Amino acid sequence: MSDKPHQNLAVIGHVDHGKSTMVGRLLFETGSVPEHVIEQHREEAEEKGKGGFEFAYVMDNLAEERERGVTIDIAHQEFDTDEYYFTIVDCPGHRDFVKNMITGASQADNAVLVVAADDGVAPQTQEHVFLSKTLGINELIIAVNKMDVVDYSEDKYEAVKDEVSKLLKQVNFKSDDATFVPTSAFEGDNVSEQSDNTPWYDGPTLLEALNDLEAPEPPTDADLRLPIQDVYTISGIGTVPVGRVETGTLNVGDNVSFQPSDVGGEVKTVEMHHEEVPKAEPGDNVGFNVRGIGKDDIRRGDVCGPADNPPKVADTFTARIVVMQHPSVITAGYTPVFHAHTAQVACTIESIDAKINPSTGEVAEENPDFIKSGDAAKVTVRPQKPLSIEPAGEIPELGSFAIRDMGQTVAAGQVLEVNEK
Ligand code: GDP
Repeated sequence: MSDKPHQNLAVIGHVDHGKSTMVGRLLFETGSVPEHVIEQHREEAEEKGKGGFEFAYVMDNLAEERERGVTIDIAHQEFDTDEYYFTIVDCPGHRDFVKNMITGASQADNAVLVVAADDGVAPQTQEHVFLSKTLGINELIIAVNKMDVVDYSEDKYEAVKDEVSKLLKQVNFKSDDATFVPTSAFEGDNVSEQSDNTPWYDGPTLLEALNDLEAPEPPTDADLRLPIQDVYTISGIGTVPVGRVETGTLNVGDNVSFQPSDVGGEVKTVEMHHEEVPKAEPGDNVGFNVRGIGKDDIRRGDVCGPADNPPKVADTFTARIVVMQHPSVITAGYTPVFHAHTAQVACTIESIDAKINPSTGEVAEENPDFIKSGDAAKVTVRPQKPLSIEPAGEIPELGSFAIRDMGQTVAAGQVLEVNEK
């Protein structure tokens, strides 16, 4: 592990705009993927007649390993710059990318938005920008990618930059919070070295832009909140829940509680990167073992916290949501699936309490009959199964969610108040 401050980074953007390739390139150029691994994938790609795919191949392979759960280290991809140690918190190129993005982006501090220069802003570009804003991403670095495809044209770069800037304005990202870099993930232009192909560009490379990000404040002083991602049985140890510490610290000897499963016990061991450690802090991916807890006592979606201040379980909660895309209108009684941290629970929107002006936050209409795409609203929500969630004002890391229905993200939001059972 590195002593540098840690940042969680999401890599977002429309399918095929080059996210996997960019991640592969970043890992490769920072020396985070061994050369022989790259070489192996290059050969494999060439055999399949897909020369040049090697970085994407590396990414796919890592993703597959993670899906098979072969290691209790959750195998997030990691690299470092002079200032920071970065973990890429989601997995581009994955089938269910938006879903990953929801759990990923809610935990990410900053994001790289990849926009292909030959395609510009595409539907998922909009969706991901919208989600990152709602889910609390601070700063965006925009890689205007595939510059090689547009012959490194400055005009093309400026046109895409304008288009993205307009989009950022729409969702209230300040332009100060965005850095644009013309890149080719494929050729390696302006990723770690200034490219001769873009003499008209004198801004930072992608790695410099990452290095220039502001340091996030680690929520170490808060109470422990650790959403459970998976539960394994490891021979010689027993039941091992794994997940990432969102806030607070997890110490050997702590008395912890899992909610909503409502079980608890003393922490016997904490393991990180295959080594036993005495404690884990925000951002750490851990596997741990709790005295008396069996595999069937807890599940994905549970949140682990201190026994004397356990994670909240909502009977109902109020939230501010923004409707991204819904084919018709949303009325009281609507019951889609809410994705919050690692949990997925069907929840009923019991009442639409107010329509809110999305840019000022003021109430535009009390108790509207319905809301539709583009609307922001305050709603009261009743989970159909127990759900642990926290007010975003108290624990932002556990206070955002996305609403999914019919295979797409319908809305995203933040919890205002939790009414416990
Ligand atoms: P993702 O779906 O956003 O993860 O996109 P991929 O990384 O899988 O890339 C999609 C396709 O675009 C692949 O064929 C890549 O080789 C190609 N690609 C990615 N970046 C670049 C680039 O900078 N230039 C060119 N010419 N092709 C690229």
